[in-house]
Amino acid sequence: MNVALAPEYSARVRRAEPLSRHTSWHVGGPAEVFFNPRDVADLAAFLRALPAGTPIHWIGLGSNLLVRDGGLPGVVISTHGTLDTLARLNQTTVRAEAGIPGTLGGALAMNAGAFGGETWRHVASVEIIDRGGHTRRRAASEYQIAYREVVAPAPEEWFIAAELAFEQRPGAHADEVRSLLAQRKASQPIGEWSCGSVFTNPPGDHAARLIETAGLKGFRIGDASVSRKHANFIINHGQASAHDLESLIGHVRETVARVHGVALHPEVRIVGEP
Ligand SMILES: Cc1cc2nc3c(=O)[nH]c(=O)nc-3n(C[C@H](O)[C@H](O)[C@H](O)COP(=O)(O)OP(=O)(O)OC[C@H]3O[C@@H](n4cnc5c(N)ncnc54)[C@H](O)[C@@H]3O)c2cc1C
Repeated sequence: MNVALAPEYSARVRRAEPLSRHTSWHVGGPAEVFFNPRDVADLAAFLRALPAGTPIHWIGLGSNLLVRDGGLPGVVISTHGTLDTLARLNQTTVRAEAGIPGTLGGALAMNAGAFGGETWRHVASVEIIDRGGHTRRRAASEYQIAYREVVAPAPEEWFIAAELAFEQRPGAHADEVRSLLAQRKASQPIGEWSCGSVFTNPPGDHAARLIETAGLKGFRIGDASVSRKHANFIINHGQASAHDLESLIGHVRETVARVHGVALHPEVRIVGEP
């Protein structure tokens, strides 16, 4: 399609921006229009000025996204490095805007979690913005939350901030965080190009165990392979295309279904044109 923009935005957006620059797998075709808002007011004005019906995609750090080689028509809004205010409201509550590395928006959209913890267990409320540029607060109770799944009460709303509540715990919290980070470093191929875990864990089992025992560690298509360190990670060794990665995801699913009779479901979001 051909997105027509108001003159004040034409100079500020990037057209045909390679999304391989914005994803942790370092693959992905071009975004027709790529916009990085300065703040929420700037974002709201941009949304209001967009022609009706323009497809809108959101990207945070791109650490859970497989963008196909044909890229994304319409507009990609990137919150990375822009919406990043963090305020402490009281002893146990912080208000954070989407944009904290990871990013908070992506963590909210995915209900990201690790070592038994989950993002939404700490969400008191969120602030969202809609296609018309209107912002509002929603209570956590308005969302249906499950393992790596968040169902919003309305379509086409995106997270711009959240109030997160934590329990106050005395003692060696920093040591606990250091130990969890060390555990992660020992078990995951951190530093290589990946999107973290590719598949969600099926009930009562681990995707990594199923993939490893199906004999798939190290299996390679093009420059993409199943990690030898953690079988639920797929690595781009440098030259893989999104097509290589998606083919490998398909091969892993088929093999695990044949060997174990279990259907694996991608955790990673696959978007864009082939
Ligand atoms: C090395 C590595 C380790 C990882 N380990 C873990 C882990 O332990 N646990 C875990 O859960 N994940 C893990 N991940 C996956 C990933 O980091 C998380 O899913 C993260 O929350 C994604 O955030 P993001 O900003 O990168 O989102 P993106 O990948 O940019 O986007 C993910 C989805 O969220 C949507 N989205 C992004 N921002 C918004 C917004 N503001 N409003 C609405 N929707 C939005 C996007 O449209 C997309 O559908 C890992 C990834 C890597 C690379």
